[in-house]
Amino acid sequence: MINEQLISLINKYPDLAQGPINEHQYDQTSQIIHGIKKLIQLCGDDPERDGLIETPYRVLKAYLEYTEGNHENPMLHLEKTFDVNHQELILVRDIEFHSLCEHHFAPFFGVAHIGYIPKTKITGLSKIARMVEGYAKRFQVQERLTNQLADAMEIVLEPQGTMVVIEAKHMCMCGRGIKKTSASTTTTAVRGYFADRADARSEFLSLLNR
Ligand SMILES: [Zn+2]
Repeated sequence: MINEQLISLINKYPDLAQGPINEHQYDQTSQIIHGIKKLIQLCGDDPERDGLIETPYRVLKAYLEYTEGNHENPMLHLEKTFDVNHQELILVRDIEFHSLCEHHFAPFFGVAHIGYIPKTKITGLSKIARMVEGYAKRFQVQERLTNQLADAMEIVLEPQGTMVVIEAKHMCMCGRGIKKTSASTTTTAVRGYFADRADARSEFLSLLNR
């Protein structure tokens, strides 16, 4: 059963095997499964009991899904642009994302708000959400994610300015360590016009707080 599941997983994520399946590449996957079993044991549980028997496979599958963004260049989503004469703020708010903290491999999740003032190029609103997904689905820290989003907007759309605000909860803070369940973290990145002008940042924030 598990072997069949593994083969279908390798078919879906060719990087796991880096090519057609053969004896050696299959072994690599088995080693990962074995490692997760050892971890379960180390945590004081029995990896062979009913509820856990397929868990190593599910963990491997989940981690491959969490990190699918590593296999794309998210900024390419923005490249379909339109020439529209609009020189005012465009704000896409509450873009939900799920990511994985690279320090603990624990989920962090929340919303990104992305605003830009175009010069000549405008991108589709859904493309911005796809870009967020691409940068979120990898081992991340919130600060880097925030800056990557701002930089991608700057590089592809060459706007007058970009501002990104991310609000997120980190499970590594909620479920372990200092256990602050209500704490959330806000990060910002500003480029161009937003870096220069306090009134532009205020306009962005007042739209957010409405
Ligand atoms: Zn963490």
